[in-house]
Amino acid sequence: MTAITVDGKAHAAELRAQLKIQVAELKAKHGITPGLAVILVGGDPASEIYVKNKEKMCVEAGMAAFDFRLPDTTTQKQLLAKVEELCRDPKVNGILVQLPLPKHIDETAVINAIDPLKDVDGFHAINAGRLATGQVGMVPCTPLGCLMLLKSVLPDLKGKNAVVVGRSNIVGKPMAQLLLRESCTVTIANSHTKNLKELCLQADILVAATGKPEMIRGEWVKHNAVVIDVGINRIMLSDGSTQLVGDVCFPEAIQRAKAVTPVPGGVGPMTIACLLANTLKATCIQNNLDDHLMY
Ligand code: NDP
Repeated sequence: MTAITVDGKAHAAELRAQLKIQVAELKAKHGITPGLAVILVGGDPASEIYVKNKEKMCVEAGMAAFDFRLPDTTTQKQLLAKVEELCRDPKVNGILVQLPLPKHIDETAVINAIDPLKDVDGFHAINAGRLATGQVGMVPCTPLGCLMLLKSVLPDLKGKNAVVVGRSNIVGKPMAQLLLRESCTVTIANSHTKNLKELCLQADILVAATGKPEMIRGEWVKHNAVVIDVGINRIMLSDGSTQLVGDVCFPEAIQRAKAVTPVPGGVGPMTIACLLANTLKATCIQNNLDDHLMY
């Protein structure tokens, strides 16, 4: 049987199209336009590209985008003041502070200054706690996108063995929580984990989020497993050109798996689509319009 290459671009486009309809309905019925504020501190080129994309997709979905470019000399106090101002602004339903922040700023302090109801990245400690305790809250965009892609090829996740390689607060841990919520048996691996290959070989669902280019080899993949590759790594080729690869060796994994997400074109596009979904969700919650929630 030929393995499925999960088309994240197509899934993301479909989700954005659904969101656009919901946003139009929200405007027509309630006169509400969801608003997303994005703060970028400093001029990191990769962050610039992410932020531009986020704003473009936001506008395409019919939402309002408010963008704040602050110099890298911005102090923590100034950034916190901006976040607090946006927390009070009724036109702003979602606040995203692009990470990483310059070294002199405490990221955790900034994230926890965001109103949890406007925390569309889902990184606030309250939202992390809500996810861990099965309460409604904002779920981090990348793991949420991973779950949607996973369910597109494996609708019933109950009882599946899931291995998440990576335990970051933004990907690994929330991914594991989502899988637990779906009644998977979840193992979270980290850089100290012993016998990682053997662990991975038991996984019906294997999620790789390590930032280590192609570290998960084909022979680590259980036959017929679903492999979700979160990694985005730019590697240098022998001819001096560069290439984007994931944390999974795709050509090897596709030989054994039931389905694999490619890099690029897999998880990446879902992240921004889920950011828009979270912005709509935040808007609905803030306006007591639970009936508009898509998930
Ligand atoms: P972090 O660096 O924060 O975390 C990496 C995790 O991988 C850590 O928990 C680390 O373990 C673990 N790890 C590293 N090496 C190994 C190893 N050899 N064996 C087992 N575990 C290992 O990364 P992020 O979670 O932020 O991101 C992971 C990847 O996903 C990156 O490539 C990033 O670019 C990508 N990413 C993609 C997104 C998208 O939209 N597609 C969004 C966010 C991230 P330990 O804790 O012990 O150090």
